Amino acid sequence: MKDIDFAAPKTIAEAVALLGKHGERAKLLAGGTDIIVQLREHGRDADVLVDIKRIPELNELTCDARKGLVIGAAVPCYRIYENKEIVKLYPGLLDAASLIGGIQIQSRATLGGNLCNSSPAADSIPPMIVLECVCVIAGPSGTRELPVEKFCTGPGKNALSKGEFLVSLKFPPPKANSGAAYLRFIPRNEMDIAVAGAGVSVVLDATKTKCTAARIALAAVAPTPLLVAEAGAALVDGTLNDGLIAKAASAAQAAAKPITDMRGEADYRRHLVGILVKRALHIAIDRAKTK
Ligand SMILES: Cc1cc2nc3c(=O)[nH]c(=O)nc-3n(C[C@H](O)[C@H](O)[C@H](O)COP(=O)(O)OP(=O)(O)OC[C@H]3O[C@@H](n4cnc5c(N)ncnc54)[C@H](O)[C@@H]3O)c2cc1C
Repeated sequence: MKDIDFAAPKTIAEAVALLGKHGERAKLLAGGTDIIVQLREHGRDADVLVDIKRIPELNELTCDARKGLVIGAAVPCYRIYENKEIVKLYPGLLDAASLIGGIQIQSRATLGGNLCNSSPAADSIPPMIVLECVCVIAGPSGTRELPVEKFCTGPGKNALSKGEFLVSLKFPPPKANSGAAYLRFIPRNEMDIAVAGAGVSVVLDATKTKCTAARIALAAVAPTPLLVAEAGAALVDGTLNDGLIAKAASAAQAAAKPITDMRGEADYRRHLVGILVKRALHIAIDRAKTK
């Protein structure tokens, strides 16, 4: 491994200045569970690693039933699933935070890093999409916000412009009678990349027999994590039953554009999408009913 400089800015302005100075030669370091591996394998090159963990805004973790959830981009997964309020209010997000890698990885890995690595198979992105997360991005022209479903633009590519970085992830407060879930398929118990993944969220009416809103997002079956609006729409208004759930699952399968690779064939992945969406919907609906 070649020598790489290390910088640890303490403010957003310092980080922006460092990115401005080094351009493409600077790489941000959150937990390092992707970037260190990529630098060692020469998949990426850098002159300077910019460690963002000393910037206060990037360590924020606040959760409130009325105000919602803010997760700083440097907050590791374990802080998320050890937070009692998040466990109670955002179980769908916990499904992903508690399955990324294993315990060692979760002690370092961040949802911000998972998003900025922008893998189509990233486990946290579908649940963030269905929970209507908004990215707070800082850069040379100040701060801007972007819905998370618009963040990834291709495998390993995202909407960050030169000199920009992710500050935090903001989630609206959970709606009444709502539930969410994320499921993925891997051929072993942990430490693997999703062959397919499905995140779902539902909002039920007062009788808890009908769905008034739903979002369904997929992992590992398209060049980017995929929000399938028509799959969510298939659930709205009709009485919730296996037929309606099957309709939503079919819409998700139809929107998937999987490839065949060493992890699975395209047809197999499409088949998995149907199963994962149905199972995740049952979990999300149960969560919404028992809230
Ligand atoms: C053994 C192992 C198992 C894994 N298992 C899984 C798994 O089950 N599911 C899964 O989805 N992933 C998995 N991963 C991948 C990785 O752990 C996750 O993607 C993790 O969430 C990355 O977070 P990080 O904080 O370590 O990111 P880092 O490695 O620090 O950064 C990732 C990328 O994002 C950039 N970046 C980081 N923070 C910012 C920011 N604030 N603004 C802009 N750019 C930024 C970095 O420059 C880098 O390009 C695994 C990795 C390993 C090594």
